[in-house]
Amino acid sequence: PKEQTEPDPTKKTLVILGSGWGSVALLKKLDTENYNVIVISPRNFFLFTPLLPSCPTGTVEHRSIMEPLRHILRHKKASVKFYEAEATKIDNDRRVVIINDNSDVKGEIHQTEVPFDYLVVGVGAENATFGIPGVRENACFLKEINDAHKIRKKVMDCIETAMFKDQTQEEKERLLHMVVVGGGPTGVEFAAELQDFFEDDLKKWVPGITGDFHVTLVEALPNVLPMFSKTLIEYTEQTFKDEKIDVRTKTMVKNVTDKYIEAEVTKPDGTKEKQIIPYGCLVWATGNAVRNVIRDLMGQLPQQKNSRRGLAVNEYLVVDGTEGVWALGDCSATKYAPTAQVASQQGAFLARLFNTMARTQALETELDHLDELSKEAKGEDQEALEKEIQKKSKAISKVKQLSPFEYSHQGSLAYIGMDKAVADITWFNGNLASGGSLTYLFWRSAYLSMCFSTRNRVLVLMDWLKVKVFGRDVSRE
Ligand code: FAD
Ligand code: NAD
Repeated sequence: PKEQTEPDPTKKTLVILGSGWGSVALLKKLDTENYNVIVISPRNFFLFTPLLPSCPTGTVEHRSIMEPLRHILRHKKASVKFYEAEATKIDNDRRVVIINDNSDVKGEIHQTEVPFDYLVVGVGAENATFGIPGVRENACFLKEINDAHKIRKKVMDCIETAMFKDQTQEEKERLLHMVVVGGGPTGVEFAAELQDFFEDDLKKWVPGITGDFHVTLVEALPNVLPMFSKTLIEYTEQTFKDEKIDVRTKTMVKNVTDKYIEAEVTKPDGTKEKQIIPYGCLVWATGNAVRNVIRDLMGQLPQQKNSRRGLAVNEYLVVDGTEGVWALGDCSATKYAPTAQVASQQGAFLARLFNTMARTQALETELDHLDELSKEAKGEDQEALEKEIQKKSKAISKVKQLSPFEYSHQGSLAYIGMDKAVADITWFNGNLASGGSLTYLFWRSAYLSMCFSTRNRVLVLMDWLKVKVFGRDVSRE
């Protein structure tokens, strides 16, 4: 479609914030010709997060799991505007979003406002640190593509520094200690990928690190992967033992410095002990926190005062205390876990809702017109018009019967290393728990089929083949 410079005054302006799972699922199914659609996100691509833990080790290359937003928008029937910017404030009273270009290259104008009739907020969440000192300064996160770059660089830097001439044994052990904090699926999958990297490639290319390279997973709760069934938790912990990943549960990190973490360990008798754990590379994966722009919007709405995890929404995803503002995914607070599965189903639901709203409006306009005509018509003409009016009214009430959002859980999957995965799958209204190499094949095919585009699918498949044939690359970028 041709780029439209001015918005069509006969259509409502729908502003969509974010280019993640929720917003992109909405865009995919939205009939864009019904609205002036504007997308705002600091990231001009969609990121397939389920394969992000494979990126820092090079099992999958970064660009294989990125899909340019311009590709996605180009396929829409009517043109969609995209601004690469961060929404810094949503002004609910004035119905505008303040946006800021926070990229390196800035033009004369890098801050402005975008008015909206309808707004969908899908800005996701940021990394939780719980205010623990030193985390932001010293740890790497694993949420965005740049985080994966940073970890990859850091791991290889630690290895080469450990191999520096005359390095002391103590310093070598510290540098080669890779600590992952958070035993949720992000932490578990990344620890598994890192250990694979060591076993399959690093040992071969840098034999000097064998015996000193260790991966440790630190978790505050009594076990890892709390959302999986008990048998799969035990299976994961046993597999990690076999892989020689040190799992330290009941260990809560309290402070982080540039060389070690301080943790509080709860011992079997209930007493607590302080531990100092030296590290070379620290990856922090302790879940989600609310973004500032969301906290600010919540502050404008008294109806949000009891919400903690994000924007409270009703069963149609309308933000409590607003009209014409919806929220989806990790920035909203619902009874569901903050996952890609939930966000994408919410996106598809909102697309249906907006398509329905547009269709209802079109039918209502036609109905008004028919009403006018029937007032002036007589005899047979009037009868025919009455019939048509009845048909249209029925169609309107049918279209209006959109039921509230309901989530359908397909199951949970996680990679746990050594070509094994765990899966809790919903199967004919029951649950199927499985772990091992067959589950790993299922995990691979499921993720491959979930990739955004054929292009992504082919690239990921080629990456997997490349690693099988040549191993992972150990150069530091
Ligand atoms: P996101 O996908 O995070 O997208 C948010 C978007 O908003 C981004 O485009 C961002 O750039 C943009 N944005 C941020 N701030 C602003 C702003 N101020 N203004 C405008 N735009 C903004 N879930 C699963 O179900 N299965 C998995 O296997 C899985 N694996 C995961 C692996 C990792 C490593 C991680 C980190 C998460 C994983 N998840 C998984 C969780 C899943 O990625 C999230 O639940 C999902 O991304 C939420 O979608 P979202 O659209 O709400 O947010
Ligand atoms: P999470 O919230 O699932 O897990 C974070 C873990 O960190 C918790 O177990 C918590 O007890 C621990 N923790 C918190 N503070 C700590 C501290 N100070 N010291 C030690 N441990 C501490 O976070 P996540 O793994 O990033 O996942 C976020 C969301 O994304 C979840 O909803 C998850 O289901 C989803 N996700 C899914 C997959 C998958 O399905 N394969 C993969 C990644 C993420």
